[in-house]
Amino acid sequence: MKSEKLYLSLVIPAYNEEENIPLLYERLKPVLERLGKEYEIVFVDDGSVDATWEKLKKIAEEDKRVKLIRFRKNYGQTAAMYAGFQHASGEVIVTMDADLQNDPEDIPALLRKLEEGYDIVSGWRKERKDPFLSRRLPSLIANWIISRVTGVGLHDYGCTLKAYRAEIIKKLELYGDMHRFLPALTKRLGAKVAEVPVRHHPRAYGRSKYGIGRTTRVILDIFLVKFLNEYINKPMYVFGTMGFLLLTLGLLMLLYLIFIKLFLDENIGRRPLLILSVLFTLAGIQLISTGVIAELLVRVYYRTREDKPFVVEEKVNL
Ligand code: UDP
Ligand code: MG
Repeated sequence: MKSEKLYLSLVIPAYNEEENIPLLYERLKPVLERLGKEYEIVFVDDGSVDATWEKLKKIAEEDKRVKLIRFRKNYGQTAAMYAGFQHASGEVIVTMDADLQNDPEDIPALLRKLEEGYDIVSGWRKERKDPFLSRRLPSLIANWIISRVTGVGLHDYGCTLKAYRAEIIKKLELYGDMHRFLPALTKRLGAKVAEVPVRHHPRAYGRSKYGIGRTTRVILDIFLVKFLNEYINKPMYVFGTMGFLLLTLGLLMLLYLIFIKLFLDENIGRRPLLILSVLFTLAGIQLISTGVIAELLVRVYYRTREDKPFVVEEKVNL
């Protein structure tokens, strides 16, 4: 049985979704059967305190294609998805929410698009069924900024329903709330990304795990993604350039002050410019040394993990 290579792994994070789990499984099964390929469903219970785990166990006892991971406590959606990726053995990985807001019927369309030669196909909740002010508006703005900053033009980063080539997604290490930025993070790996409109339903059972509070976290993450994508291999350029500018400005101002003190015999002790020049000089030195440390860290980073700052597409005669 095991010899046939697994085609599809579904990775589904679930945190307190007891009512949704059985319904989701019932709806997933016919869709997956229709694909006619080998599949597995990896559920990750992210430390639920309701009956989610019991419901999952019951399903897994009857269906060996259902694999379960249970976290000791709630680590968050990103960690749950990461664990799912590490345990998935399919060539293709599809992620979706456990809350039935994503529609299993959209999975075949994502897979078809992937087979056209893409590495990631992202769902786009064209008609999103969430409250406007607290969810859709912040998300509109965030999506626009992320598209601009990362250069990966998607309408809907927040949609969990996505299909990935496993080899690409397994290369990523995920921290914090980075699951939203998977398409942007894979840009560094040269992934081809496409988008497909998908359905979206209002949450029928349970509550959303996020509120308006995630906005700040998303904004901070955008900076991080930008940095990781563009400067991870040359942090000295970021810190060094800023530091060099500040240091030059600070030294010029100091020279000017020394000049008027020595040659014009003016008192400089009470001038705001003095404070500013000292501040600039110190900040400049700090930034340059941060750049040097960051350069060292990058070298350590690549040495400790079997990773390279590039991905080879093809090799000939090697
Ligand atoms: N989730 C999780 N851990 C968390 C928060 C959420 O595994 O700490 C799961 C949750 O069970 C759901 C998915 O991530 O399957 C998306 O969460 P939610 O529906 O609350 O997000 P929203 O759709 O409101 O953006
Ligand atoms: Mg949801």
